[in-house]
Amino acid sequence: MKLCVLSGKGGTGKTTVSAGLAGLAGWHYIDCDVEEPNGFIFLKPNGITGEVVTVECPEIDAGKCTLCKRCGEVCRFHALVTTKKGVMAFDKLCHACGACALVCEPGAIQYGRRRVGLVEQGISGNIIALRGVLDVGEQMPVPVLRHLLNKLPEGVCVLDCPPGTSCSVATVISHADYALLVTEPSAFGLHDLDLAVKLLRSRDMHFGVVINKHLPGEKLISGYCRENNIPILGTIPYAREAAEVYSAGRLLTELPVYRKALEDIAEKVKAGVMAWN
Ligand code: SF4
Ligand code: SF4
Repeated sequence: MKLCVLSGKGGTGKTTVSAGLAGLAGWHYIDCDVEEPNGFIFLKPNGITGEVVTVECPEIDAGKCTLCKRCGEVCRFHALVTTKKGVMAFDKLCHACGACALVCEPGAIQYGRRRVGLVEQGISGNIIALRGVLDVGEQMPVPVLRHLLNKLPEGVCVLDCPPGTSCSVATVISHADYALLVTEPSAFGLHDLDLAVKLLRSRDMHFGVVINKHLPGEKLISGYCRENNIPILGTIPYAREAAEVYSAGRLLTELPVYRKALEDIAEKVKAGVMAWN
């Protein structure tokens, strides 16, 4: 079973819940937030090894180039610009679609490879912890994500998604069987929760909601979930000590009340997954 944890809005506690569930239930942890992976801070894996991720990029043979401009015209990503002196390639804009080499009649375009990031793996207790790390200055996380998702271990994995509802999130959820939406009771939280719900429903995915930073009497998120027939799998209470544990890089499950909340959520996820299979 692959469980993706997403949030719509950043800062709702998605990684706190993901790392807490993984450590507690013995599920492998996969940090898919490749632009800002911070799950290893909490799980502290040992024996970390890494693999470099590369992508194709065009290389122009100036000796063969006739400056015809066709490559720049066909590139939808504006990664090639023909000047009077030659073709300038902006590698970070290239999506490696191959169109430029197809239209280049003199065969002046070949593809090389360049590094865009890393995939790292370590062991935390009895679980495997994996993460993708996009290099500083790189703009396209999806190649790193694809490399990471090709390495998912057997067994239950928690896929800690990037924030938002971008193509990175869509890439991750396409590898998941079930989704957990972590949200917070605020207007922004509700707005972005609704976007994430629409994304998951467009993919026909089963999912439930966890309300983080929950206070007694909360109606904003619970009312939305009731109106939209979305199961609430648990609530995580709002308390200063939770922020203190988080900021010290420790797992929330060190605190008994949070451990119990995450144990209940893990049980409901298991029950939900069994019901749908
Ligand atoms: S299509 Fe080929 S020949 Fe034409 S400008 Fe581009 S690299 Fe040069
Ligand atoms: S491979 Fe595609 S995206 Fe990259 S430079 Fe060529 S046409 Fe543009």
